[in-house]
Amino acid sequence: MSIDIPLPPPPESGQGQPEIKEYSDPSPMTPVQPVQLGPEDRFQFNCHKGIACFNKCCQNIDIMLAPYDILRLKKRLGLSSRDFIDNFTRDFAMDGHGMPGLKLATKDESPACAFLTPEGCGVYADRPSACRYYALGLLSMRRKDSPTDEDSYFVVKEDHCLGHEEPKTQTVRDYRKEQGLEDYDAINREWRQIVLKKRSSGPTIGKPSERSMELFFLASYDLDGFRDFISTPGFTELFELDPAEKELLLATDEALLRFAFRFLKQALYGEISIPVRADAADKRRERYRQRVEQMEREAVERKTMDQDAQYESLKYESQDD
Ligand code: SF4
Ligand code: SF4
Repeated sequence: MSIDIPLPPPPESGQGQPEIKEYSDPSPMTPVQPVQLGPEDRFQFNCHKGIACFNKCCQNIDIMLAPYDILRLKKRLGLSSRDFIDNFTRDFAMDGHGMPGLKLATKDESPACAFLTPEGCGVYADRPSACRYYALGLLSMRRKDSPTDEDSYFVVKEDHCLGHEEPKTQTVRDYRKEQGLEDYDAINREWRQIVLKKRSSGPTIGKPSERSMELFFLASYDLDGFRDFISTPGFTELFELDPAEKELLLATDEALLRFAFRFLKQALYGEISIPVRADAADKRRERYRQRVEQMEREAVERKTMDQDAQYESLKYESQDD
């Protein structure tokens, strides 16, 4: 499959997944059906273990991961977020500015999902949201002048998927519930809003700095790294976090992830929700001033040493003459 959203699914009762962030009119070749569905609309689809196409959808994947997907998978596998990222994902750029994204890894020398087993999905209870959505696609968009995003859904019909010929119909709402998507969307939606805002910020915000991209990666995907980050003296010096609140957000990965989104909104868009210490800016300025002075001192020392060395070599040259 080649459109840069849809990804395949599997079962225990199968499900793979396109997550559509930006949608343009489907061409005649796209598997995305041009009918926008709302929560109460019905569609025909059923995936189950006995179906002839079992596992086909997971044999050639292109699955984008969202933060809650990573949280669930790394927990299931007993890995740190860094180890999960290193072993089970690959990088890609989400936009022309290189906004970092992660996709699910495939098996060595094969486009099949790294978690695919002959029996089906090897991480079924914690499979990513894109896998849960399949054969629906999710479109999140924000209308001009609207403060909130709107979700709508599309059926994705790929030739290999026989689930569309099964007689079962259901509403989008029931399907999402059956697939356990409510928990996933409850957390990932906030992140999608951050991504959409960043993508559509355009020239008013300009090319993001390398540091902001690093923070985006840390807060979005590397949750254990983010936990370490908020325990650093630099973070504590800058932000005024109530110790009880800090204890709460360190208690569960879910709470920490939600805090990471708050942090991102503050760092990227100036949406202040984490109090900044009044004297933090002065301290930073003072540290910066001291660093500049130190660098100037070192530059003068280097120059003096160079001049001494040149003088010494001239002295020896004139003695040789
Ligand atoms: S995570 Fe599971 S459902 Fe998703 S593509 Fe991999 S094997 Fe298929
Ligand atoms: S019906 Fe579709 S989603 Fe289910 S296993 Fe077959 S190809 Fe995958």
